[in-house]
Amino acid sequence: MVQGSTYFCTKLSNKIQQQIILPTSTFLATPALAALPPSCATGAPTSDSVSCSGYCKFCRKTHHIYAGAAIRHCLKLMNLLEEKKRIDFSVTDETADPRFSTDYLFGEARGQMFGVMVYRDQNGSVGSIPAFSCQYNGSWLVDGWVPPLFDVKLFHDITFPVEKEIKKMGREIDFLKKGSLAQNTIIHQRKTLSRKLMKKIHALYSFTNFRGETASIRQAFTGPNGIPTGTGDCCAPKLLNYAAGNNLTPLSIAEFYWGRENKSKTRRHGLFYSSCQEKCSPILGFLLCGLHDVSCEHI
Ligand SMILES: [Zn+2]
Ligand SMILES: [Zn+2]
Repeated sequence: MVQGSTYFCTKLSNKIQQQIILPTSTFLATPALAALPPSCATGAPTSDSVSCSGYCKFCRKTHHIYAGAAIRHCLKLMNLLEEKKRIDFSVTDETADPRFSTDYLFGEARGQMFGVMVYRDQNGSVGSIPAFSCQYNGSWLVDGWVPPLFDVKLFHDITFPVEKEIKKMGREIDFLKKGSLAQNTIIHQRKTLSRKLMKKIHALYSFTNFRGETASIRQAFTGPNGIPTGTGDCCAPKLLNYAAGNNLTPLSIAEFYWGRENKSKTRRHGLFYSSCQEKCSPILGFLLCGLHDVSCEHI
C-alpha cells in the first residue's frame, strides 16, 4: 500500500499542488507522514494535521480528528479520478453511467469536495471509504460511496412536488408586471414555500455520534445563526455519521477539492482542505463526540 501511495503521489506531484488550509491550533506532536516523498509532502497536510474539528456543547470542549493515513488514500482516489474520469468505480467502462463522469466537475457546475475516512471495524480490520460532498450531478447515492444523513426516497418525495410548484411560481413571476401587487404576492408565497421546504428537509436529517446518541440537525448545530443550506452534506459529516451507524471507528479523515475552481475562488483543484467553518464546525462537535479517545491513533 505504501509503495502504491508513493507512486500516486509522485505521479501527481507535477500536476497537483497540495496544501491544506488549517484551522488555528492544528499541529500536534506526532511524526509527519514518512511514506510521502519530501517533494510531495511540501505544503501538503501531514498525518498530524487536524482535518476536522468542532466545539461540542455537551462536553464543553473541541473534538477533532487527524488527516493521518487518509491523506494517502485521498492521493489514491485522486489518481483513480484522473485515470478513470468517472466516480462509479464499481462498474466496468462499458456499463459506466455518463452522469458520473468527472467532466461534470470541470463544467458549469464546477468542482466539489471529496473525502476519505480510514476506519477500524469491529473485527479490528482497517479499511477506508470515500465520500463526495452534497449530490453528484443530481445523485445522492453512488455505489461504493457513503450515503447522505437522510432517507433519499423521503427526500425526493418531499422535494419533488414543492420544487415543481416553486418553478411554476417562478414562471408566473416572470410573466407578471414587475413590482405589481400580484407579482409581489407570488414572490412572498414562493419565499414562504421555500422556507417550509427547508424546514421539512432539515427534519429528515439524523445525526449519530460515538456515544450512540442521535440528534436532529437543530440539536446537533452549535452555530450562533441559522442553519446554512447544505449543512450535513459535506464529506466529513457523511463519513462520521456512516461510521457511527455502522460500528466503525474512524482513525483519520482528509478532504480535497476536485474540478474547476469554485466561483468564490476559495477551492482549487487537487488541494486539501480542513472541514469548513460555516457548515461543518457547528455540527462536528456532536458528530465527533465519544471518538476523541481513539482518534489519536495514526494508522
Ligand atoms: Zn463542510
Ligand atoms: Zn462531546
